[in-house]
Amino acid sequence: MSKWPLGVFASIDAGLGVNLDVAHELQVPTIHLHAPQKSSRTPERAEEFLKQLADRGIEISCVFAGFEGESYADIPTVTATVGLVPADTRTARVSELKEIADFAKLLGVTAVGLHVGFVPHDTTSAMYQEVLAVTRDVCKYLKANDQNLHLETGQEPAETLLAFLKDTGCDNLFINFDPANMILYGCGEPLPALEILGDYVRSIHCKDGTWSDKPGETWGCEVPLGQGDVNMAAYLQTLDKIGYTGPLTIEREIPQEPERQKAEIGQALQLLNDLKQGATA
Ligand code: MG
Repeated sequence: MSKWPLGVFASIDAGLGVNLDVAHELQVPTIHLHAPQKSSRTPERAEEFLKQLADRGIEISCVFAGFEGESYADIPTVTATVGLVPADTRTARVSELKEIADFAKLLGVTAVGLHVGFVPHDTTSAMYQEVLAVTRDVCKYLKANDQNLHLETGQEPAETLLAFLKDTGCDNLFINFDPANMILYGCGEPLPALEILGDYVRSIHCKDGTWSDKPGETWGCEVPLGQGDVNMAAYLQTLDKIGYTGPLTIEREIPQEPERQKAEIGQALQLLNDLKQGATA
């Protein structure tokens, strides 16, 4: 595949991102797929999905796990509900994550993405050790599937995440870099973070956002690509600098406004196409 193929975050049934038909109308060659619900994660459905994708000329570059009960309503709610950190749901979610990985394998996908949740910043805490243990368990399972785990960035500063990646000792643990999340969660300037994490970046989101006036306490604001504080031209230059050549996957989470979502993704594709030409000229 050529450098930086364009993509969008998409889903086959209920889930984050745009519907597969919208991805097709937008003429993107790649998607990050939000994992379908359990009833759809069967070998028969995998074959159907693969046919739909082949008919549309679309490849899945990463399957993202999500879990019932997760809410991104505000930062404290994310802490309490998202990923493998919340203790109450951890065991069930680890099982489901492994099922999602098996489904991704049926689709021929070798990267599984995940918001692991807020990694505790205190590395001496019991919770930090628990999150290390659960991540190692998942990575071991994925390794047997010849798959890698891509952690979504944003919920911790780059240095904290880098230390965590090294502490796991897992050689199939990488990063899905989302520059807007760094801003939305108030976890540091995204482009220096991208350079710090560069060796681990194996997939990325193209998303934009503006800083909160209380970074880390309240959300910043997700905005259309190019209208936020990321600086998309500099983002692409930094991706080039770290040697990233994989898909540029647009994420725009306004499912309540599908027409606007599609229009804004269309504009984002145009922006990225223009910038790609500039960045590689
Ligand atoms: Mg993202």
